[in-house]
Amino acid sequence: MTIRLAAPLQSDSVVDGFGVRTVIWTQGCSHNCPFCQNPQTHDFQGGCSYDVEEIKKELKDLKNQDGITLSGGDPLYQIDAVLEIAKYAKSINLNVWCYTGFTYEEIINLGKKNPKYLELLNYLDVLVDGLFINELKDLNLLFRGSSNQRLIDVPKTLKYKKIVLIPETDGIMEKYMEKKEKVFI
Ligand code: SF4
Repeated sequence: MTIRLAAPLQSDSVVDGFGVRTVIWTQGCSHNCPFCQNPQTHDFQGGCSYDVEEIKKELKDLKNQDGITLSGGDPLYQIDAVLEIAKYAKSINLNVWCYTGFTYEEIINLGKKNPKYLELLNYLDVLVDGLFINELKDLNLLFRGSSNQRLIDVPKTLKYKKIVLIPETDGIMEKYMEKKEKVFI
């Protein structure tokens, strides 16, 4: 199985979720949000094709990373490969964040036609959902660009069957990092 990526894996990011993370920049997105910061990732024929098994090997060899972040582009356009990668990342104790232009509710709907979308949720710790809306852009937001986007605690959302957000209080980053074994594993 292959996946189209906009760039090689990028380790040591501290701006794409809690902790130190390796970002997987998927290629391809048709949401066309005005003022998107990554327009070069929209073309589904752009970027390069990577073997998912090679990506898994790279993940296995990572040092000092708390987790991976699936970003792009929109990772959900490559659901088979992204599911495989998320599953593998969890199996080696990396937590998984995923950015997408789809809302959580839209993902549930996609799951009615293709259960892999629902399966993916089981391997996500945080979903950052929704389109980037320039009118709602706010530079003070934690890990997202516009205020319609949500930091969804996916395990709790699945458990309680209603959207549970990551609370955004002072010191939340430190709190989550202290408790990361409990929260994310
Ligand atoms: S979903 Fe993300 S990558 Fe796609 S157009 Fe919107 S901001 Fe850009």
